[in-house]
Amino acid sequence: MSRRNSRDLTKSNAQFAKAVKRLPLGVSSSFRYWGDDRTIYVKRGKGGRTWDIDDNCYVDYRLGYGPAILGYADDRVDEAARKGMEVGGVFALSTERELTVADRMAKMVPGIDLVRFSNSGTEAVMGALRLARAHTGRDSYILIEGGYHGLFDAAMWMANMDQWDPNSGLEPSVVPYSRGIPQDIKNLVHLTPMNNANRLEDVFKKHGNSIAAMLIEPMMGNCCAISATTEFVKLARKLCTQYGVLMIIDEVKTGFRVARGGIQSIHGVTPDICTFAKAMGNGYPIAAIAGREEVMRTFRFGGAAHGGTYTAHSVSLAATERCLQILDETPALETIATYGENLKAGIKAILDRRGIIHSFSGHSSMFGLFFAEKPPIDYRAWKKSDYTFYDKMAQHLHDQNIICEPDSREPLFICEAHDISCLNDTLRAFEAAIDLTLEQVETEKRA
Ligand code: PLP
Repeated sequence: MSRRNSRDLTKSNAQFAKAVKRLPLGVSSSFRYWGDDRTIYVKRGKGGRTWDIDDNCYVDYRLGYGPAILGYADDRVDEAARKGMEVGGVFALSTERELTVADRMAKMVPGIDLVRFSNSGTEAVMGALRLARAHTGRDSYILIEGGYHGLFDAAMWMANMDQWDPNSGLEPSVVPYSRGIPQDIKNLVHLTPMNNANRLEDVFKKHGNSIAAMLIEPMMGNCCAISATTEFVKLARKLCTQYGVLMIIDEVKTGFRVARGGIQSIHGVTPDICTFAKAMGNGYPIAAIAGREEVMRTFRFGGAAHGGTYTAHSVSLAATERCLQILDETPALETIATYGENLKAGIKAILDRRGIIHSFSGHSSMFGLFFAEKPPIDYRAWKKSDYTFYDKMAQHLHDQNIICEPDSREPLFICEAHDISCLNDTLRAFEAAIDLTLEQVETEKRA
């Protein structure tokens, strides 16, 4: 095996060749496709590591896009899930545990009076927006550039950074994430940059009285963990209250991760509605819409519809009960934060030794790495950073048995099970990946 690629992907490549005949791109989510000869198929995960079907062992910083907060196959959570299995699945009826979990959530998160369960982040945010529309009787909504709120049509509008020239003096165009999204939805979307108070005030002044909701991820979990300032989140809260707009803080990635009370507790801002998923159940499919009582009571017959065959599934709910108990009552989040700090310090030392300018964004439990002096304050600033260096480095990290997203817009996620052996393996791999990236850049320059 060469220094460049320590992996053998023979079995994954063979699996891809077979799978692509039955599954589009050979996968069940397009983001799992990493190229015809680089798409990996997982055998299993345990703790902070994942093994592929060729038995390559990786330190995993994707963690399924965040859910495995305690680590894969956590014995404590899996034991609870097995007990949940004995309950019998779903009944189209309720179980007592729903209240136990909702009570725990309300104890942990300031903005939670009432809770409704969903199955995925997409479903939760879709329900939250419907709730806001039903409560206000308005249709349009504010999104922040770089924010991601799931795969439903209303959320799938973005600033087209890929095509935007920062030196053009023009605004990035607003485009759907994908084909198949009806164009007329665009008329309901107000897209505005993070941390730009003037622009936000302007949107409220012009349209505030017809806006149902402002959706915000104060730490953008799909955009380099670019973070709102507390000042900006407080301004958003003030404007929402002033114009009767419901503030939805999307905590699908930050919830039960960056703090027991989520990102809202860090900023000291209480939303009207908040959404959770990922870290709730350590990977078991569950999500929640939660918020202020008066708003949440709009979930009623004649109000906002909510339900679903699999909501509050007994397996996921039992896993969530245990996972939240651990996050609430043990120092798991502190362990995660300490690992994140140590990882950042190790990466910094490697980059400093090579004189590579860089910075970190986000929180020690989910952070972005930038090759710029300061982390971006909004998505437009990301476009001005050297993200191509990151993208090259990510490929080398994969070859060195580290799993991170191939795209710099996805932060690195830490779990409780990442231990000193993970840290040592990561830093060794990181050093090699950086040198290989530097060599690649030099070679490309010469070519
Ligand atoms: N909201 C945020 C902030 C997310 O990060 C995601 C997914 O990454 C979603 C919503 C959608 O969640 P899901 O993929 O579970 O549908």
